[in-house]
This record gives sequence, structure tokens and C-alpha cells, in this order.
Amino acid sequence: MQVTFLGTGTSQGVPVIGCDCPVCRSLDFRDKRLRVSMHVEVDGRSLVIDTGPDFRTQALRERIMHLDAVVFTHAHKDHTAGLDDVRPFNFRQNSDIPLYGQASVLEQIKVEFAYAFAENKYPGTPRLQLHPVENKPFEILGLQLTPIEVMHHKLPVFGYRIGDFSYITDANFIAEPELEKLRNSKVLVINALHKGPRHLSHFVLPEALEIIEKLQPHVAYLTHISHSMGLHAQVEAELPPHVHLAYDGLKIIL
Ligand SMILES: [Zn+2]
Ligand SMILES: [Zn+2]
Ligand SMILES: [Zn+2]
Repeated sequence: MQVTFLGTGTSQGVPVIGCDCPVCRSLDFRDKRLRVSMHVEVDGRSLVIDTGPDFRTQALRERIMHLDAVVFTHAHKDHTAGLDDVRPFNFRQNSDIPLYGQASVLEQIKVEFAYAFAENKYPGTPRLQLHPVENKPFEILGLQLTPIEVMHHKLPVFGYRIGDFSYITDANFIAEPELEKLRNSKVLVINALHKGPRHLSHFVLPEALEIIEKLQPHVAYLTHISHSMGLHAQVEAELPPHVHLAYDGLKIIL
């Protein structure tokens, strides 16, 4: 299995439009963060988790040639806005793209991309199939995914575990039974917005580190990062040895 961080930034991305803080002005490529998404490849199968507004740029950068499915964590715009750009995969593969997510998330996608679900579709609109999933394991082309229900303020969001890889974004609370599902992950990805203060809907760094400490993955990566986290190189140097800030383009082979 190979996983690639397509984006690691919070909803506005980094740099932030109009900001001239040191992080937004940094020349370090790791301080350029597109909106969060992961590409997961397992035995020739190719999935993305979320299609944010930067999906097209990310798919081009990582030369994604084939897409079997999109799996959604939740319907916030920074996770869905790029969905129209699955069209080249519709054309190349001459097939619909199946979308997986909570029923409420897929309902929201039907509202926001209504033209793709219209009776009389304009030629060339995205071809999408909806596959609602509940909080229990399901398969995509024989690959098992286990949803992890986390809370994002008052919104239930799905993280996913695929084998030894667990991916949590946009959480600020994980109930004990859901935390259990993350145990013994080799690679745990979890969101951390900035160092503090506490945030209404996202874990901040001390909270993410506490969960990592509890779950003891071999290695953990932080994502959904704001410019207020600080410079990548500086923050990375302060983290425990098995915890890293993710960066765009980072690939992990498991
Ligand atoms: Zn988000
Ligand atoms: Zn900034
Ligand atoms: Zn969100």
C-alpha cells in the first residue's frame, strides 16, 4: 500500500490569501499546504479520501492516472469543492466514479452538485454513483475500509482505517470505542490545527499528541494544519521522534 498526502492544509490553505506572516512568506515547499486529501493505492486500486478545491492540481502533481472511488470524510467545502474534476477519470475510464460516505454527506453532495444528478444532464457533467455507508466496515473492490466516527464540533465525521493505515481529519473529539478501532495502526494520521488555544472543531497540537501517546502507532503524521502552527522546520524539530508534520506530496509505503 502506498499513501500520498495530496494536501495537508486547513480550509483556507497555506499561504493564506493576503497574509504576510513568516509561514505564508516561507520559501520552504513544506510550508505550502493545499487543502487536505489523501491518495491511497493498494494492489492497483486507486482511491482518494476527499476531493477539496485543490483536487485538480493535486491529481496533476501526483500524476494520478486512474481513480476507482472517492471516499468522503464529511461535506465541508474544503473536502468536496473539487469533485467536478473527476470528469477526466469519467472520460478516460468511460465509467462512473463511485462515491462513498455517510448518507447525510452524499445528500449534501447531491445539493451542491445538483447538475450532476439532474434528469436531463448537460453533456460532459460528472458521472457519479452514490454509495452511502454506515459506521461499519465496507469494501471497495475487495479492499476493506473501517469507518471511525469522530466529532467535528457537533458534526459526526468519518475517519477511515485501511489495514495498518488510519486517517482522521477534522476531529476535535473521539469517543473511546472509536479510539479502540485505531489501536495498533502502523501509521496514524490525525488533524492538528495549530499549537493553541483550543479550537471549537479541530484538535490542536497538545490534544493530537495526547491521542498519539494513548494509541502508540509506530509513526504519526499531523495534517489539516494552519499557518498559525508555525514554520514546518521549526515545529518538526520540536515533535517527539515518532511524530511528524505531514507535508504535501509526502508518500508513505506500508
Ligand atoms: Zn476541513
Ligand atoms: Zn500567514
Ligand atoms: Zn470540516
